[in-house]
Amino acid sequence: MSVTLRDAQHLCWKNFSKINDRLDPERGKGWTPFVMVTDLLEEAGEVASAVKGLEGFKPPEKPKTKEMLATELSDLLYIIFVLAEHYGIELEEAFLQTVNDYVLRFVK
Ligand SMILES: [Mg+2]
Repeated sequence: MSVTLRDAQHLCWKNFSKINDRLDPERGKGWTPFVMVTDLLEEAGEVASAVKGLEGFKPPEKPKTKEMLATELSDLLYIIFVLAEHYGIELEEAFLQTVNDYVLRFVK
């Protein structure tokens, strides 16, 4: 399956909204941007843990794999898309601008 960043962002938001709408009454509260950011930081920590394990800085009895890293990177991307959509940001445009900025800055 191939999707654009825009499609992926909208898909994440659609799924997030569906889940949040279902769970809100049970929890008695919805996910605010604050909770989204704490989730983003939590997922970033899980990415760090996976990389730390892959690089041999975690106990060997709890090995990390590339598949685990892929999952954590995907978790992180998911919440980044959700946060962007919450604020009405089209991340695809911003991302392409960022890539262009890096090229202009470092590739001359
Ligand atoms: Mg995770």
